[in-house]
Amino acid sequence: MAKLKTTFFCQNCGAQSPKWLGKCPACGEWNTYVEEVIQKEESGKGSWKTPTTGTKKASVPKKIQEVNYEEQARYVTGDDELDRVLGGGIVPGSLVLIGGEPGIGKSTLMLQIALILEGKKILYVSGEESEAQIKMRADRMSAKNPDCYVLSETNTQQIFQQIEALKPDLLVIDSIQTLTSQYVESAAGSVSQVRECTAELMKFAKETGTPVFLIGHITKDGSIAGPKVLEHMVDTVLQFEGDRHMSYRILRTSKNRFGSTHELGIYEMRVEGLRPVANPSEILLTQREEVLNGVAIGAMMEGNRPLLIEIQSLVSPATYGTPQRSSTGHDAKRLNMLLAVLEKRGGMRLGQQDVFLNVAGGLRVDDPALDLAVCASLISSYEDTPVSEQICFAAEVGLGGEIRAVHRIENRIAEAEKLGFKKIIVSKYAVKGLDLAKYKIEVMAVSKLEEVYQKIF
Ligand SMILES: [Zn+2]
Repeated sequence: MAKLKTTFFCQNCGAQSPKWLGKCPACGEWNTYVEEVIQKEESGKGSWKTPTTGTKKASVPKKIQEVNYEEQARYVTGDDELDRVLGGGIVPGSLVLIGGEPGIGKSTLMLQIALILEGKKILYVSGEESEAQIKMRADRMSAKNPDCYVLSETNTQQIFQQIEALKPDLLVIDSIQTLTSQYVESAAGSVSQVRECTAELMKFAKETGTPVFLIGHITKDGSIAGPKVLEHMVDTVLQFEGDRHMSYRILRTSKNRFGSTHELGIYEMRVEGLRPVANPSEILLTQREEVLNGVAIGAMMEGNRPLLIEIQSLVSPATYGTPQRSSTGHDAKRLNMLLAVLEKRGGMRLGQQDVFLNVAGGLRVDDPALDLAVCASLISSYEDTPVSEQICFAAEVGLGGEIRAVHRIENRIAEAEKLGFKKIIVSKYAVKGLDLAKYKIEVMAVSKLEEVYQKIF
């Protein structure tokens, strides 16, 4: 028997070392090295076809004007949310990783895509569920693609054999952590297995032009389970997130070689599958009878799409010693900065107050244009007076309490107007040269935080 070759892999970032290390020099994590058995060091060796050796033509430099490429037609799935997040449909030959916590609905989303792509031959490979289980889920969905094939298999070589016979137009792997390649000996889900299987699938995608979707489970701390290397290898990384107890799911790009990474898709989870939400502002704004203290609406941009989002806060006297500062869906450092500005410029005494901030709808936001909405919501909770429900906000707040301009103000104003708001507070520097008379909504331009106080209640 051949001597087994082993290497130690960091389970966090995929770095390798010939001996065990306590601390990973690449990512700085402790106790992440695990010994794995490997036979071949080069990845991609066990490809779907044995590579031709030797006779490959060497590349020669070309003038950039002489380089020809054909814009390959993307598959438009008909699911507007997915198409937009991918940058306009599925690119042939692309390798897309879709990550998310177990149970969030990744398999449902992919099966649904497989079923709506009528006229395309889809192979859905599952190492997690039996064919009967997949069929049961498919029966609940309304879309029916007669050319959707399912395969319950985990060995990559077996899968490639089936692929050669079937010649699908799209391949879905559920999930990458269940696959094993016979060229690597370690267990399914280990760094070397995941890396090898991904390399084989990538080679298949690039050589045949068949798009491949990989489903990957993510760990509790939010990274794709096991290796970060996976993220570097694929063309596109999509994150599917949301609270599994709530009905809304968010699909966002964290890497995309074929489009922007700022796009966002929103779905509603229903018994019959995931329903794309075309107008997210309507669901993100809570419908309520009475106005509440500590609630303010901000106009943010997610990619090219304006979204109105509800910021909620609670400011109350601290009962247990050190006051707490807690924020959900919003950067905690940014919150602390805004609190300091309110204390210094607005004369609010927040030193002995607990402050809780929450972004409604389970969204994570980082648009600085929400600063003013955050401030308004904090002021409202502190003063125990509701912000008028007719008002929304779109401006950044600086350290001096100055109200700063944000980009694409016209889109934000238009979205607020569309949703029936009467007033929007923006920076006066953002609307220079803009014809405000054309809007039905009243655009209030301010330059200092002090001016905002009188306008919001
Ligand atoms: Zn590491």
